[in-house]
Amino acid sequence: MNELTDDCVACGTDGRDAPRLVARETQDMTGETFVYRLCQGCGSLQIDEVPDDLGRYYDASSYSSFAVKTSLVDRPLVQNPLSRALLRTMGAVHRRTGRGLGLRFVRDAGISPRESVIDIGSGIGENLVHMRLLGHRELVGSDPFLPEDVDRNGVTVLRRHHSELTGTYDWVVMNHSFEHVPDPHAMLASAARLMAPGGRVLVRMPVMGCAAWHRYGMDWSQIDAPRHLVLYTPEAMDAMAQAAGLRVQRMFYDSWSFQLWGSELIRQGLPHKGASLQQARAHFSRQQLKAWEQESRELNERGEGDAGGYVLTRA
Ligand SMILES: [Zn+2]
Repeated sequence: MNELTDDCVACGTDGRDAPRLVARETQDMTGETFVYRLCQGCGSLQIDEVPDDLGRYYDASSYSSFAVKTSLVDRPLVQNPLSRALLRTMGAVHRRTGRGLGLRFVRDAGISPRESVIDIGSGIGENLVHMRLLGHRELVGSDPFLPEDVDRNGVTVLRRHHSELTGTYDWVVMNHSFEHVPDPHAMLASAARLMAPGGRVLVRMPVMGCAAWHRYGMDWSQIDAPRHLVLYTPEAMDAMAQAAGLRVQRMFYDSWSFQLWGSELIRQGLPHKGASLQQARAHFSRQQLKAWEQESRELNERGEGDAGGYVLTRA
């Protein structure tokens, strides 16, 4: 289903007179360009036409959310009972204090280990596997682009479109998947359907209209054409939530220094290779990267970072 037609998908403003802006493919700098429309209503940036062969842009080596990695979590040392008990304790400490080992979005959103979670567009489920090690129990992932269902360390990841998912969950999580889909209204409708009574939805994604957008324009690293189909402003998210019978309860910012070094690389015509730190270190000094990390923390505190999370409840 393609909901990204001529009008702004978020606020419905007629797109005919919207300024057209050109974005380059920047993970690999293939030389391809894509036209985006800047909505005059809500300020969102939306791809003018969804490429028919969008799948091709996910096969590139830089995009790895489907590659089954032999990550640290699969090692026997991590899997023994003592390590697991230690990791659960560390997870609890991180959720309380933000220190030590943990997942930042879990703390930012306030997801308790007692709550059930479904992650829509989870890729291979790397976040869920980490959550499981940190003490979370009821975890399901889903991604229609997986080759098959996956079972990893007690986490099931289903090869399913969001419209085919069943059950109810305390949290419906979308970790940087919402900006990739051509059917965002249908996706939020699925999320609303999957919410348990009192449940919440967490949408983490780039934030259009941020400081990096104003500084770098179409060289802003989060545009990621053509994979990011829409870059939503907070106003756009409000409108999308409302259309699904939901509302934004609160928002947090969690951008990192990629917004600055990634955009600087793009400005110089260099690929960022899937936000690869190796690529950053090859071109910028350690001191510069540290300064950008600090600046990103400050941008988040001021509500000007280029990525964040929206916590939604029923309206
Ligand atoms: Zn709009």
